[in-house]
Amino acid sequence: MDLFEYQGKQFFASYDMPVSPGEAVTTVEDAVAAAERLGTLVMVKAQVHTGGRGKAGGVKFAADIDAVRTHATNILGLDIRGHIVENLWIEKASDIAEEYYASFTLDRSAKKHLGMLSAEGGVEIEAVAEENPGAIAKIWVDPVGGLAEDQCRQWVLAAKLNPDVTDQTVELLMKLYGAYTDGDADLVEINPLIVTPEGRVHVLDAKVTLDGNAGFRHDLAPFDATQPRDEREAAAHAKGLQYVGLEGSVGVIANGAGLAMSTVDVVNQVGGKPANFLDIGGGANADVMSGALEVINNDPAVKSIFINIFGGITRGEEVANGIIEAMNRVDISSPIVVRLDGTNAVVGWSLLDPYLSDRLVMEPTMLDAAQKAVALVEGAAS
Ligand code: GDP
Ligand code: MG
Repeated sequence: MDLFEYQGKQFFASYDMPVSPGEAVTTVEDAVAAAERLGTLVMVKAQVHTGGRGKAGGVKFAADIDAVRTHATNILGLDIRGHIVENLWIEKASDIAEEYYASFTLDRSAKKHLGMLSAEGGVEIEAVAEENPGAIAKIWVDPVGGLAEDQCRQWVLAAKLNPDVTDQTVELLMKLYGAYTDGDADLVEINPLIVTPEGRVHVLDAKVTLDGNAGFRHDLAPFDATQPRDEREAAAHAKGLQYVGLEGSVGVIANGAGLAMSTVDVVNQVGGKPANFLDIGGGANADVMSGALEVINNDPAVKSIFINIFGGITRGEEVANGIIEAMNRVDISSPIVVRLDGTNAVVGWSLLDPYLSDRLVMEPTMLDAAQKAVALVEGAAS
């Protein structure tokens, strides 16, 4: 779950890290009112779930209220890497003497947390990694042992920051590690972490990704409310289906997450584009099958439907009856291709046989079925 910058800063502030005061707004009038309360000088900052906002014109300094109005007007509605700006963060502007970079994330192959720290902040860390990899000090932290203060200090010294701020930076990074682990984050990134002309270390940007699976330990409701919504996913989840919306035109239904994943792959492999991932799980009965078909049918991008079932505990005749009943219940606008294999598949085939037409096609293998489903999309287009 990706947080907006301002939410990330609130998250950091709850772990006692120094952030600037500000207000989240959605209109130009509220931006102006916020700036009047905060007192110019302020920053007007686009809140979107992507980085590089500054470069895209989404972060502007305002020296007076007129500038706040102009910038807020220009930034609201701006398209930043495909994200339309609907939220702004008006923040009291800071003076900057130095810009650093700091982050923690999980290094899966090392089975440790990876901390990165650099005196070259404010720019994209990928660029630093490419042009001057030596400028990034890395630390691997054992998740069980945690981060010890002297280990953290060695790391800060290795990054060759301004020696005057070593103590403050160690203190801040210990808090950042605490926020990352205690808050169940997958990523915490501060770029830039600044030093002010008065020598204060301060958080100026926040990128935070929280682990939604740890939601039971936290109150994620305010963050959840601002997540981008795929309406198809919302409808599918309301039916208890495991569904992920994708960009293509072949609707996919399969039983089991592994098979559903392979089905998405094989559609791609034969040159098609899946519209979704959908795992109907073990019991492919009529209710589940009609629910799944309904969700797929409501997606206007879908031009053909590929039902891929391998019966294990699920028996072929159940699946066939499920498909037949679902077709009676739901008025399906795309042709369906079925691949049915496994337990009692032959019984399933004979049940489906009387219903076969150019709207319901059966194919013997997964690859044949994928090819057929993709061909039907192309047929629909021509
Ligand atoms: P990003 O482009 O999405 O990473 O957005 P940031 O929040 O990092 O802002 C981009 C850049 O704007 C920063 O790297 C800073 O150089 C600058 N910036 C942001 N806030 C302030 C501020 O309060 N004062 C000053 N002087 N510059 C700022
Ligand atoms: Mg930044």
